[in-house]
Amino acid sequence: MLLFGTAGTPITSPVRNSIGGIKRVRELGLDAMELEFVYGVKMGEALAQKINEVSKNENVHLTAHGPYYINLNSYRKETVQASIERILRTARIAKKAGGKSITFHPAYYGGMKPELVYKNVKEHLSQIVRILQDEGNNIWIRPETTGKKSQFGTLNEIIKLSQEVEQILPNVDFAHLNARTNGMCRRYEHFELTLNMLEEGLGREILDNMHIHISGIEYSSKGELRHTVLEESDINYVELVKSWRDYRIKGVVISESPNIEFDALLLKKIYLSYERE
Ligand SMILES: [Zn+2]
Repeated sequence: MLLFGTAGTPITSPVRNSIGGIKRVRELGLDAMELEFVYGVKMGEALAQKINEVSKNENVHLTAHGPYYINLNSYRKETVQASIERILRTARIAKKAGGKSITFHPAYYGGMKPELVYKNVKEHLSQIVRILQDEGNNIWIRPETTGKKSQFGTLNEIIKLSQEVEQILPNVDFAHLNARTNGMCRRYEHFELTLNMLEEGLGREILDNMHIHISGIEYSSKGELRHTVLEESDINYVELVKSWRDYRIKGVVISESPNIEFDALLLKKIYLSYERE
């Protein structure tokens, strides 16, 4: 089964907090919500516990997005340490809230060779996973395929991390893949290539346990400029949904379009129309 949901509280939610958001997601006929800790993890444990209960009652699948201020490849030790802490805090509170995975943008190349950056990111993520395992926290750690060429996070890099470090799986952001390849992830043949790479690298299991980000996107030669609604982008989202259907993928699709829930509903509607065939 493929679940469709929103990046944060839907814009049509009358109550502007996570609990209101979860209830609104259910009302809209969606199935998932990503808790957005993008400006920092400020949620307390009591609230996380309450969110856990409400999401179970409403049958809404939860995931979380860590802070933007993360760089596991900074030349400043303090920045790396703070980044590790932010990822750990996201993982701990998300687990309390009943979240199944966390995602984040892992690092910047900062002019360094990609192989060296990979080594640094892998080392720090391994450390994070060891700490979480000691704490008995088995939440999936899902570094994201990023949208700017200056950011670590090609599909290959994220697949390799998932092969080499336990408890790590990709968050496949199709809009970012399209932006960082200057439009090479917008048609069916591209989606096929992406899904084939995932299956070759990580086996059928990954197609049965996907986490996807999607929105429209504007980009330049350097990659991502801004998220747009799907209709205003060059991504053939009807074919994208068809590829998901053809590969029978399972997991969670999170809409990060500016109109959040409307594109989530649009994708779910297209998906269900294929299911009926
Ligand atoms: Zn993201």
